[in-house]
Amino acid sequence: MKRALVTGITGQDGSYMAELLLSKGYEVFGVVRRTSSRNLERIEHIQDRIQLESADLLDLSSVMSLLQRIKPHEFYNLAAQTFVPASWEQPVLTGEITALGVTKMLEAIRLVDPTIRFYQASSSEMFGKVQAVPQNERTPFYPRSPYGVAKVYGHWITVNYRESYGMFACSGICFNHESPRRGSEFVTRKITETAARIKLGMATELRLGNLEARRDWGFAGDFVEAMWLMLQQEEPEDYVIATGVTRSVREMARIAFEHIGLNYEDYVILDPRFVRPAEVDMLVGDPSKAAQKLNWRPKVSFEELIAMMVEADIQRVTEQRQLQSITQAAQQRQADKLRKANRPVLVR
Ligand code: GDP
Repeated sequence: MKRALVTGITGQDGSYMAELLLSKGYEVFGVVRRTSSRNLERIEHIQDRIQLESADLLDLSSVMSLLQRIKPHEFYNLAAQTFVPASWEQPVLTGEITALGVTKMLEAIRLVDPTIRFYQASSSEMFGKVQAVPQNERTPFYPRSPYGVAKVYGHWITVNYRESYGMFACSGICFNHESPRRGSEFVTRKITETAARIKLGMATELRLGNLEARRDWGFAGDFVEAMWLMLQQEEPEDYVIATGVTRSVREMARIAFEHIGLNYEDYVILDPRFVRPAEVDMLVGDPSKAAQKLNWRPKVSFEELIAMMVEADIQRVTEQRQLQSITQAAQQRQADKLRKANRPVLVR
């Protein structure tokens, strides 16, 4: 039985990757940090089928002992500080995790078992101020945020370990990929979640930054298949993973609101707080190498993706609301009981 180790397993990509590996019969191990508040929401449904291991990716020896114990065949590095605006607030931390963290994992593999196959989650943010359109595996990088800069380091150190030590290390340059499991701070989820709340009468406006920014948005579930395929090839190589189609934030808002029968212009408010110090205006990937060599193609279209996310958010918000009203009703009953018994009631 093949064993795979996944960092960032509690994140969007990690959870889809764990599902994919389980469906292929892998034994799946996930790395989680030892924190007091663990966020296991995205892997709740598969928690009894995967093994969670405590290790800190900043601590080389803890990664090494993990590899010695688990003896994985494949190692997917899907952990990072991934939110671009946060990388200006915490540039050093971002560099330590997203850049230097990769060297630690590669070092651990080199020292423990250099035959372990390694996948590095690289990012289209490395192209930043784009030097060519569309961007492929040979397009020069020009990152525009501390996050992008850190990812460039992660990419090149992966290439370097492959070339220096002959390791099977691949870098997948993934363009934006989204899903109902995307964090609420990213523009896709922010739009679909707020649209759902507006539809259900729980919000009245959606505050956004740059509406003209363009991205190549795909479905995370499709992207993890490409990551897995990279490690099944005869030769380790780097690949751009993208849909090849670029859309604007404005188009996304229009489509999301249209899906629920509303006009985005009635709700979207431009808010300078969400405009970035340096912006990536236009990303569009050329996935032809992945199509040709991996036989990979995205299956979910942009429209389908947004509809899937809006629907999931409507369901989630509805459930939250139901839960809230059940709790409120229970509190009310309790208060009535206490009042009848002539005891003081705490007013919250
Ligand atoms: P990123 O490509 O990894 O930075 O993904 P995001 O989803 O965070 O941002 C995608 C684009 O949407 C960027 O160009 C942002 O400037 C733009 N954008 C516009 N308004 C917002 C907003 O309110 N929140 C976020 N996160 N992005 C926004």
